[in-house]
Amino acid sequence: MNVSDSERVATLLKSKGFEMTPRESSADVVLLNTCSVREKAEHKLYTRVGQIRKTERQNQVVGVLGCVAQLEGETLFKGDRGIDFVLGTQAVGRIDRAIEKVFAGEKNVLDLEGREFDYDWSTDATQRHSPYVAYVPIIEGCNKFCTYCIVPFSRGREKSLPASEIIGQVLELKRQGVKEIHLIGQNVNSYRPLNDSGLEQFKGATPFSRLLRAVAATGFERIKFTTSFPRDFHPDIIDAFEEFENLCNWVHLPVQSGSDRILKSMRRGHTIDNYKKRIDKIKNSSRNIALSTDMIVGFPGETDEDFRDTLKLAEYCQFDSAYMFKYSPRPGTPAFEMEDDVSEEEKKSRFIELEKVVKKSQKRAFENKIGTNLEVLTEKVSNRNKEHLNGHTTCHKVVNFKGDSKLLGKIVNIKITEVKTNTLYGQIL
Ligand code: SAH
Ligand code: SF4
Repeated sequence: MNVSDSERVATLLKSKGFEMTPRESSADVVLLNTCSVREKAEHKLYTRVGQIRKTERQNQVVGVLGCVAQLEGETLFKGDRGIDFVLGTQAVGRIDRAIEKVFAGEKNVLDLEGREFDYDWSTDATQRHSPYVAYVPIIEGCNKFCTYCIVPFSRGREKSLPASEIIGQVLELKRQGVKEIHLIGQNVNSYRPLNDSGLEQFKGATPFSRLLRAVAATGFERIKFTTSFPRDFHPDIIDAFEEFENLCNWVHLPVQSGSDRILKSMRRGHTIDNYKKRIDKIKNSSRNIALSTDMIVGFPGETDEDFRDTLKLAEYCQFDSAYMFKYSPRPGTPAFEMEDDVSEEEKKSRFIELEKVVKKSQKRAFENKIGTNLEVLTEKVSNRNKEHLNGHTTCHKVVNFKGDSKLLGKIVNIKITEVKTNTLYGQIL
């Protein structure tokens, strides 16, 4: 979401006559987009601002965006660290106005107000992380209030974008030659627009599964979506996969813990039993869908037995990959009031143990691809070897292969020959 916000900020500023500089030192304005899911975010921000101000670049305008900006607001100006403006998560569409104010001599410019929906959501191909892949936000914010999580406070309430606008944007990206889109949001499958406009003729048990079918029906080459919230993951989403081949073979479904007791205390709204049912439906589909997840170790009150349940669940699900986190208390969240009673040492050792289990299933998932032919979207020339290209499969794995840069933006068939640390290697067929 932050990468997508940065791309949209860059697009907006470009339309106002700004340009991206190749070197930070030659910039007039430096923007720091921040995340506060885990602690130390502010600390990192201050270190970064300090580094900028320590240089000769005293005249640069420094602006802070993202979740730290939203949560800390005015306090970021305290202590004269050299921050010129602070822009909340819903104010990104007014960044040009904030910069103008600073240029006009105004000090401590602050905008934490709500979104006006006053700016174009489309991104300029030159400002995207890739000309061939684009993020399309479909829902912003979060209403779930999982007890450990700061996001509902930093990103505000859930707001779904009108389906007609999303589809309009998808068609525009298709016209631009984009090959892969990622529908994004904190919880994409909680998508619930104010009305059905644009989705009327599509079937589906939930607005999200209707939107998926509507987007797939545009004929877009590849469609991925992230993140899905387990409680709202209706089996009909998998039925849509069976109907549309352009829905890619990848589902990211964060489980957080393998213990029902902990899940309840996290207020996730799902149990292990119904999570497994969803996993079974995904694995039993006719498609070869890769699964990834997020897991937290050391949540308050997590016993060794709870943790063993997480290990068991990871064994059961055989994830292709997982983001794992040590629980980090966030002030203002309900879990912050609970005793952070798992020691740092214990969190570390649980993390390592869980990592071992995930690495095993990950290794298996990668090795299973050896000898198979996979379609790869060629996204860039390899950083390490200019004769090599890399891109993603529909199951969202990175593949590296020898090839000419003329293939950039094309989908090529690759025979997988080797696996090295989370990357597949192969040859063009
Ligand atoms: N909306 C998504 C996740 C967004 S945050 C979902 O519900 O799945 C991304 C991940 O950060 C979470 O899935 C969780 O695993 C992790 N996370 C969030 N708050 C955390 C905290 N306080 N400590 C450790 N990890 C946390
Ligand atoms: Fe955070 Fe839960 Fe919302 Fe995900 S669903 S962003 S973990 S509160």
